[in-house]
Amino acid sequence: MSRRPVVAGNWKMHGTSAAATALAQDILRAIGRLRRVDIILCPPFTALPAVARVVKRRRVALGAQDCHWAEQGAFTGEVSVPMLQELGATHCIIGHSERRRDCGETDAAVARKVQAVVAHGLTPIVCVGETLQERDAGRTLEVVGAQLTAGLQPVTPEQAPRLIVAYEPVWAIGTGRNATPAQAQEVHACLRQRLAARFTPAIARQIRIQYGGSVKPDNSAELIAQPDVDGFLVGGASLDAAQFAAIIRAAAGVPAPATT
Ligand code: PEP
Repeated sequence: MSRRPVVAGNWKMHGTSAAATALAQDILRAIGRLRRVDIILCPPFTALPAVARVVKRRRVALGAQDCHWAEQGAFTGEVSVPMLQELGATHCIIGHSERRRDCGETDAAVARKVQAVVAHGLTPIVCVGETLQERDAGRTLEVVGAQLTAGLQPVTPEQAPRLIVAYEPVWAIGTGRNATPAQAQEVHACLRQRLAARFTPAIARQIRIQYGGSVKPDNSAELIAQPDVDGFLVGGASLDAAQFAAIIRAAAGVPAPATT
């Protein structure tokens, strides 16, 4: 089955509303009218309204980088899913390794957030990935499999097809060192097997699995050529309109425009 590729830009803590507006406009200009790919921009919370205005009449979705699992309450500094929805977000990154590492986010917290996101009809981008130490110890498949199982625990078979899973090896994020296509394919295939066991093989075939970790224009074509790589979650390169557009074109299988 051929899944529609999906590319998300995780802008992390970069960009005032003015800067995010300019970046989103540059990206839209650079991609033109691409049809064979889903695109999601994930600016900081504060820039969601500004980017929502830019993408309004384009087929580009808006995503948040995190959320709280509660609807509301005494959670200082947190943002709930209905609040994100009000701003136009349709997607939300959950369990990014920076949050797991820096904010102590556990698999249990990831599961609660995933549950909140799907309950409101949004799409979670559920991140899993091993550290270098875990890879070197031969534990990659065990670690990402356990993260996936725990994070998707509350998801029903009816909700599952719209999930997006992102495999992001921690050692590849922001390091300039990407997983090889073979390494990515091995993990993606294993994740899909887990999804088949958790749901059904037919549902697993519908769930898109992104690769993330130092994706650049020059490695995106060989990564997307892997049968179980369905797109990318892009950090650093998504802050550069030309680079991000080149990655999106690679995911869509569209050749780069000729330079004169
Ligand atoms: C990320 O943080 O999700 C990411 C993949 O970052 P980078 O592309 O910069 O490695």
